[in-house]
Amino acid sequence: MLAAMSASASPPRPQGDACPGTLRLHRADDGALARVRIPGGVLTPAQADVLREVAQRLGDGQLHLTSRGNVQLRGLGPDCGPELARLLGAAGLLPSERHERVRNIVASPLAGLDSPGRDGIRPWLTALDRLLCGSDKATALSGRFLFALDDGRGDVDALGADLTLLAHGDGGDGDGGAQLRIGDADTVIGIPATDAPRAALLAAEVFLDAARDTGAWRVKDLPDEQARTALRRDVVRQLERSGISVTPQPPRPRTRAAVPPALGPVHGPDAVALSVGVPLGRLGQEQWRLVSDAGELRLTPWRGVIVTAVAPDRAQERLSELSAAGLITGPGSPWAGVGACIGQPGCAKSLSDVRAEAEAAVGPAGPAGALPVYWSGCERRCGHPHGEWVDVVATPDGHRVSRVREGRWDNAMVTARNSPAALTAAVAAARNSPN
Ligand code: SF4
Repeated sequence: MLAAMSASASPPRPQGDACPGTLRLHRADDGALARVRIPGGVLTPAQADVLREVAQRLGDGQLHLTSRGNVQLRGLGPDCGPELARLLGAAGLLPSERHERVRNIVASPLAGLDSPGRDGIRPWLTALDRLLCGSDKATALSGRFLFALDDGRGDVDALGADLTLLAHGDGGDGDGGAQLRIGDADTVIGIPATDAPRAALLAAEVFLDAARDTGAWRVKDLPDEQARTALRRDVVRQLERSGISVTPQPPRPRTRAAVPPALGPVHGPDAVALSVGVPLGRLGQEQWRLVSDAGELRLTPWRGVIVTAVAPDRAQERLSELSAAGLITGPGSPWAGVGACIGQPGCAKSLSDVRAEAEAAVGPAGPAGALPVYWSGCERRCGHPHGEWVDVVATPDGHRVSRVREGRWDNAMVTARNSPAALTAAVAAARNSPN
């Protein structure tokens, strides 16, 4: 039996932050790896095309989506760094070399697309990225430190960011307000929507002061609740000193279940967007072309994409094209909710080829209402989901299948050894179990 354990009590790390970026490549078993930060997951068609070309010319040809709406390029040659930086820089994907690994911003992917007036977080995204890239102090943030911009629907609020800006009232367009959540606290700080990006940067800088002696990379790494409470107090003080008015707010508990955009058409006032899932977060050249040939492309923190600016009379035709190309266009797909880390042969730490195993376990039809499942080649569980999900991890003793709620593992349900059929059955049972 596996004792219940917490994923939230990560100790501070004395060693350096080895998080990969565009300029700091990570050496993997399948070649070098670059992680390209895409704030808000937002790409223009031209930027998307540059990424596709770079993946083709310098890497394995595929675009690998991450759980923060970024793109990883894999299979890169060891000497491609300068060329990679040149191409991405020319496309506006590397606005500041010193800040390239700290531009970690997720944003509600459907903001402004499915309901009029809820597009106030787009100015936040632009401003926060610009402020981050202009801050000398922010270069000291860890590559893991995460900002979330939530338009009020609670989707990215559930992702456990270090700093979350929440629109409330009208979606943050300036007439309503904004709230700043620090870490996981229920307490939120009320601020004017127009000051929200500046408040987020100031809070990050105050965190760096608080973290200096502890080695903490993230808010949750601070030694205890007392330290996190002191951080919130110091942030309020700094906001007021900087002329940002702070208003008391009732507690707003963090959204617990991360709800990705429903798959399929998303109807807006003038155009349709398409919410599309990507099996195992990996897009080939033609798939990438198909999703990025219309308007802006948005990558979601659930390894999906939002294709925007689709003419309403072409929406069904486009969905059929995307489905025929192997993408997930509706909840009935057997791939809906299935994820996996890179596993073998790309990662030396992996004990198995979890992508192939996940694929083999995918049934003929998507189980309605089934929990998401995530396959990991080792206990690190890179890129695992949040909220409630089924964890399949390769161990020296076999594949362990457990259920996770709020970062806590239930007692292990089953360990399957050398039996793909038993493993598939155990995963299906865990995903469909009522409790
Ligand atoms: S979870 Fe383990 S096996 Fe999978 S990518 Fe991370 S380190 Fe590699």
